[in-house]
Amino acid sequence: MSYRAWFAAQDDAEERYPLTDVVYYSRSGGLLEVQHDMAELRTRSASEWKQLFEQRWMRTRWPYGSGVWGKKEWVCPTVADENVVSMFEGGTNLFWAERLGRELGVDDLWIKLCGNSHTGSFKDLGMTVLISVVKQMIADGKPIRAVACASTGDTSAALAAYGAAAGIPTIVFLPKGKVSTAQLVQPIAHGALVLALDTDFDGCMKVVRAVTSDVENGIYLANSLNSLRIEGQKTVGIEICQQFDWEVPDWIVIPGGNLGNTAALGKGMQMMYELGLIDRLPRIVCAQAENANPLYRAYRTGFTEYTPIQAQNTAASAIQIGDPVSINRAIRILQQFDGIVEQASEQELADASALADRTGAYTCPHTGVALAATMKLVRNGTIKRSDRVIVVSTAHGLKFSRFKVDYHEHMLREVSSSYANPPVELPPDIDAVRRVIEERMELGVQ
Ligand SMILES: *Cc1c(COP(=O)(O)O)cnc(C)c1O
Repeated sequence: MSYRAWFAAQDDAEERYPLTDVVYYSRSGGLLEVQHDMAELRTRSASEWKQLFEQRWMRTRWPYGSGVWGKKEWVCPTVADENVVSMFEGGTNLFWAERLGRELGVDDLWIKLCGNSHTGSFKDLGMTVLISVVKQMIADGKPIRAVACASTGDTSAALAAYGAAAGIPTIVFLPKGKVSTAQLVQPIAHGALVLALDTDFDGCMKVVRAVTSDVENGIYLANSLNSLRIEGQKTVGIEICQQFDWEVPDWIVIPGGNLGNTAALGKGMQMMYELGLIDRLPRIVCAQAENANPLYRAYRTGFTEYTPIQAQNTAASAIQIGDPVSINRAIRILQQFDGIVEQASEQELADASALADRTGAYTCPHTGVALAATMKLVRNGTIKRSDRVIVVSTAHGLKFSRFKVDYHEHMLREVSSSYANPPVELPPDIDAVRRVIEERMELGVQ
């Protein structure tokens, strides 16, 4: 069976390009979307698709054991298997946040640990698709010399790792001093050309767009305005349903910056719905940092007005974006999913992250934003106690050790650390140690 997909313009059904063309915008200047031949996909029934996805799930047959490539027909059917560049991304575990849920007042709260992935964030889901298509293009004789991206840290880590695995040169543009040490060292270690620019993410984005605008130059753009990334990222929602035996949760909460992932989450859900694998849609919550909240501001106007902003510093550095590339497609998805946009202050995101850590999770600040948004919606009665809620955890907490250390040492800006647990410094004196232990035991579990 031959499944097909292509780039399509939003406003002109006739305007199409192969996925291996170097093209990012339609003639009218809008972003392209990947479209699939849905008629062909419908020739398999919903239960046949489920069965196929189950058979492949986490198995060893290349490349179908990957959570992304196990759904290859839905993601990128046009890449030859031998050109797939995969590190078995996806298939990340769901953490039943039972104790945290009890504290918040939700019985069925889960955290999808997308950070338990090769480069420590959910950006691997999209990057495997983009780099695989690039490998296909090179195999087809296209003159691609390097792949480039602007990044708040995680995209560049993923690009550099997948590029290195495939032997494709990579160039990353980072806002100087605005990414964590762990994020900075990843592309360095993978041999990328790392350009630290004295600007913010939006400034880096402008530079990379300029550098990749000349198609003849052979530098291919890896940011999520390139819709190939969306195709991989969209598997997160499909996986969540699969992990619940194809039951649809009531809510999925996801942190948003450039907003490609909010759009992708919805796209995966829609595809399942259209092909009959699920019979209803969840509600989507996009959570933004108050210091970088252009979508939240637009939401407050009922999406009638949108203005890019200058993003302020936030501990949730991966979503410190004031002019999101995927604003339009994210708004479209939120409207279709009865969506909500919520925001979290630095205080709220840091405390939410710390509170979750106390119940055994280990959350990055962006996950803290999503958790803080969830708490607000529980408190105001929007999310009900019996609802099933999935919080998408987008990066591994270990990538943000500075954030955690600063929190527990009361060193975070704009934050008074309600749940700080600094180490107790003592002389090696048995009585003093016993006293401290007894004091703590009286307080009970923290
Ligand atoms: C990229 C990223 C996000 C946000 O995704 P967007 O598509 O930019 O909205 C959230 N959290 C982390 C850790 C990320 O790396």
